[in-house]
Formats: sequence, structure tokens, C-alpha cells
Amino acid sequence: MARAVSSHEESSVIQEKVSTENDDKYLTVTELLRSKSVVFFLGVHLLALCVFFVPFSWRFVFLALASYCVRMLAITAGYHRYFSHRSFRTSRWFQFILACLGCSACQKGVLWWASWHRHHHRYADTEQDVHSPYYGGFLWSHMGWFLFSNKHTTIQWHLIPDLAVYKELLWLEEHHYLPGAILALVSYLFGGFGGFIWIFCASTVVLWHATFTVNSLCHMFGYQNFLCEYHESCNARNNMILAILTLGEGWHNNHHSFMGSSKQGLEWWEIDFCYYFIRMMSILGVVESLRVPSVDQIEARRLQHL
Ligand SMILES: [Zn+2]
Ligand SMILES: [Zn+2]
Repeated sequence: MARAVSSHEESSVIQEKVSTENDDKYLTVTELLRSKSVVFFLGVHLLALCVFFVPFSWRFVFLALASYCVRMLAITAGYHRYFSHRSFRTSRWFQFILACLGCSACQKGVLWWASWHRHHHRYADTEQDVHSPYYGGFLWSHMGWFLFSNKHTTIQWHLIPDLAVYKELLWLEEHHYLPGAILALVSYLFGGFGGFIWIFCASTVVLWHATFTVNSLCHMFGYQNFLCEYHESCNARNNMILAILTLGEGWHNNHHSFMGSSKQGLEWWEIDFCYYFIRMMSILGVVESLRVPSVDQIEARRLQHL
């Protein structure tokens, strides 16, 4: 249902829906403009365009790339493979570091992220899936489900009982904007307005859309080697370009088939930078008990027509 409004005048404006596909899903234009998340999202996009107007610097380009890679690894190894799937174990202090670095990607708190991601695996590409491109379209799966709707703002607590026991994660969830704000401030102090634009704004925009492609494009384009867990209708795909862009998350068919695995690139050519990072952390003794499927388990799920 559309959200209640405060005045009769507003109710007429609210008739102007963002989409007519499903009135239950979308916020109105008025509500969108009042949403802090939407204003922040649009604002960072507009600021990112300033890369064309500030003096060019290779130093800023390098730092923007580093900002992208560190935060992408925090999302893939931290938010996704550790918090959402518990595909390896680590200490409580490194768990908190992963959560803080993940927060700096400005994709909300880790508890919100992990709860909806677990929901996605449970219902992938069925009607209950919150970001299937087959039930809402590309734009909805890419960013509409969290940006244009108020139905997915709350944490699905029943899906993350193992994470909700950590007080520091509960605290961080309430202050999830802090790491991103600190990164923005440090970028500005380091490089002035140009540094802020390159290291925070431009890097964050690319990071957002690269991450979102896993929900949208990775369920549309690429090849499939395996049956997915939970639902045979799941259309997750393996995509080399998206795997490189997301440092390993593009092997999404592999992931939906072995979601507890810390390793998503299962063939020799399936480059998985995130797994190499996890392996390196394992060699350094920072993480342990990496979960990886055996050859027999892999072969047992391989699609027969291959
Ligand atoms: Zn998926
Ligand atoms: Zn997953």
C-alpha cells in the first residue's frame, strides 16, 4: 500500500507514481524527494560528475582505485562471503574491521545487507525474491528495490540470529553512516575538493553500480555450469567481465550453487581476487576454516548437458 500522507494537497501529488507496474512497490515522487537515502544517492552521483571539472591528477586516480578495491573487498569478503554466508572464520576484532570497512562502501549496515542477501538466496528468482530482474525488471533489481521502495528498509532479524548477538555490530548498524563520512572527510583533508570528488564520490558511484550488477546483470547474462541451491528456477549466471569488476562476485551461478563456499571461481580460468585475498589472510593467520566444495561435490551438481 502507498504510505499515508499528511495532507490532502499532498495526496493529489502522490497519485503521480514512479511506476505503474506495481503500486505496492514504489514510493511516490514526493516521497522519493524527501528520502535521505535518495537525496544522498543522487547527491553523490552529481558530485561524481565533478571529476570532469576538477584538475586531473594521476595521484587521485590511483587513490580512487585503491578506495574502490579496498571497499569492494570489504563488501565481497566481508559483507557477502563472511557475514552473509559464514564461508570462513575469523576473530571478533577482524570481524569488526570487515564490518567497518564494508560500511564505508555506503551500502547500509552489515546486518541489513546480510539479512536481505540471505532472503535473496532463499527465494532467488521467484516471486518472493526482492531483487529479481524477472519480477520487477532490470532497474528494480539493480537499485529500485532499496531506493524506490520503503518495504525493504527494515532488517530481517529472523534471518541473522547468528549476527545479532554481537553488540558492536548492533552499534555499528545504528551508526552505519560513520565509516563513509570518515572516508569522505579524510579524502577532503588529504586532497581538497578534488580529492573528495575522486577518492570518495567517483569511487563510491562505481563501487555501487558494480555491486548492484551482481543482483541485476548476473541474473541475466552469462553461462551456467551448475544447478542452484533452493530453486531450479534461479537464473544466476557466471560472467567474466562482472567477475573482474567485482573482484570475484561475477561467478554468480557458481555462488548460488555453493553459497557457503569462500571460493566462487571454480574453474581454473574463473579469476576470483576476493578468494585470493581470503587465502592471503588465511596464510597470515587472520582468518581460518575456509569452506570450499570438494571435487565430488562440484561434479555432483554440474549440469548434465555440459
Ligand atoms: Zn543472486
Ligand atoms: Zn550470496
